[in-house]
Amino acid sequence: MPDNTMMKKNGMVTKIHTRIRTEPFKNNYDLVGKELGRGKFAVVKKCIEKATGKEHAAKFLRKRRKGEDCRGDILNEIAVLELAKANPYVVALHEVYETQSEIILVLECAAGGEIFNQCVADNDDAFTEKDVVRLARQILVGVAFLHRNNVVHLDLKPQNLLLTSAQPLGDIRIVDFGLSRRMDTLTEVREILGTPEYVAPEILNYEPISTATDMWSIGVLTYVMLTGESPFLGEQKQETFLNISQGNVDYSQEVFEGVSSLAIDFIQSLLRKNPRKRSTAEECLSHPWLSGHAAPPPPPPRLPLASLDETSQSESEPESPVPPPELLVLPPFSMGELKSGRGTTFTFSEPFPSRSEIQQEVIC
Ligand code: ADP
Ligand code: MG
Repeated sequence: MPDNTMMKKNGMVTKIHTRIRTEPFKNNYDLVGKELGRGKFAVVKKCIEKATGKEHAAKFLRKRRKGEDCRGDILNEIAVLELAKANPYVVALHEVYETQSEIILVLECAAGGEIFNQCVADNDDAFTEKDVVRLARQILVGVAFLHRNNVVHLDLKPQNLLLTSAQPLGDIRIVDFGLSRRMDTLTEVREILGTPEYVAPEILNYEPISTATDMWSIGVLTYVMLTGESPFLGEQKQETFLNISQGNVDYSQEVFEGVSSLAIDFIQSLLRKNPRKRSTAEECLSHPWLSGHAAPPPPPPRLPLASLDETSQSESEPESPVPPPELLVLPPFSMGELKSGRGTTFTFSEPFPSRSEIQQEVIC
């Protein structure tokens, strides 16, 4: 029986409570339909639980990656999902299975797919500003919850934000906690790196990360959801890095046609180079762009832990979070196309940046 505890490492959560099942996954589930998605080390497939007939998403994670045992990273992902169980906007973890080579996370199925699809869609299917207000609030409620619990996601991007349904437009489910870290146990970490366009300048500069690192990504994300354009995307990744570190953002009328000035103000409060000057998740929720519109009716919490008073300010993070030591983020791999704010098109399939370019050690 596998040991459920791990040594503390680089801000990873060390202990999980979920029982890891070792009986064959296929005894209890039937795989149906085609793949829901995939990343570099994971494939996600739709499945039906035999006992209940309920649909789920099974995330198959390889334990060995590039010749290294990465079971600890997967336990970290499970631990964060456990911690966020009570938040309605974080995907629910149902069960965990383990085989010789894989760990299988049985997750709530977010049938509406990635918000990425609407971000790159033509007018008819693209989000309206009203949609973005509703979804941004949900993302922020989820992220504020994580931050209150000292967890940083570190890979917030349209491919990791799913919808419960696409039509009618459902609710947000935040997924992919593969890079998430606990701030309070974070020691020296220099190994990880995120996704080019969404990565904050402090990551590129090897400066300390904090919850503000996620807030930068939310700024980029909101820009993309409203305009369909990626604010820092260059033709080459080096150009993207340069745009990020120089804070080159196009807020012109042309890009933001039909978008309110409050929305632009909201994005500007996040795309600030100095992490301490960025709005926190709680502050974002009080920004007039979001608070001026009707809030989504909060779905009932999944647990009686109604302690998760999402609007409560009491547990909000301090004004100036104490920055932990350095953390860089792993290169995830995603597919798809998005226009850059500079009229170019970029394919997400390329890993970013190469190890040699950034001279980093890479953990799994
Ligand atoms: P990776 O760490 O490999 O990026 P993710 O957790 O992001 O893995 O999953 C890869 C993709 O699979 C996601 O971008 C999404 O398209 C799909 N996916 C993941 N979880 C779910 C889910 N619970 N329901 C539906 N689709 C999912
Ligand atoms: Mg992902």
